Amino acid sequence: MIRHTSDKFRWHGVDVLPYKEDGGTHFKSISRQTLFQGSNDLPVEMRYFEMAKDGHSTLERHQHQHAVMIIRGSGQVFVGETITPINTHDVVHIPAFTWHQFRATNGEELGFLCVVSMDRDKPQRPTPENLTELNQIPKVGEFIRV
Ligand code: MN
Repeated sequence: MIRHTSDKFRWHGVDVLPYKEDGGTHFKSISRQTLFQGSNDLPVEMRYFEMAKDGHSTLERHQHQHAVMIIRGSGQVFVGETITPINTHDVVHIPAFTWHQFRATNGEELGFLCVVSMDRDKPQRPTPENLTELNQIPKVGEFIRV
């Protein structure tokens, strides 16, 4: 068991880490905490990601899927071809090989649990050609951050 601390959205013994180990400028104001690392017949990880106001995750796609539950604040998510408002307790599925990006656009933080397979492929970022295609989808060009 991992107990939650007296600080909201912080857990005992769980480091608050950078969102991605390799750094970069394709995300903003986002942290990562790994809450569960499975094995054997439950080979999944559960992570808590939190972005500060105006933060965003990387625009990416990959073969592995995400099951996400918003547990703090609100914002918007781009999945596939659609931008959707998201609020605390909403559940979001990111299907395989589907462009996605979370943004804390509502003047508050956006925090979510994200379940992924332990064995997963590396995310792809958009090529210039991908961005040309994404920019042709109504509203997506203004939403995405790269
Ligand atoms: Mn992803």
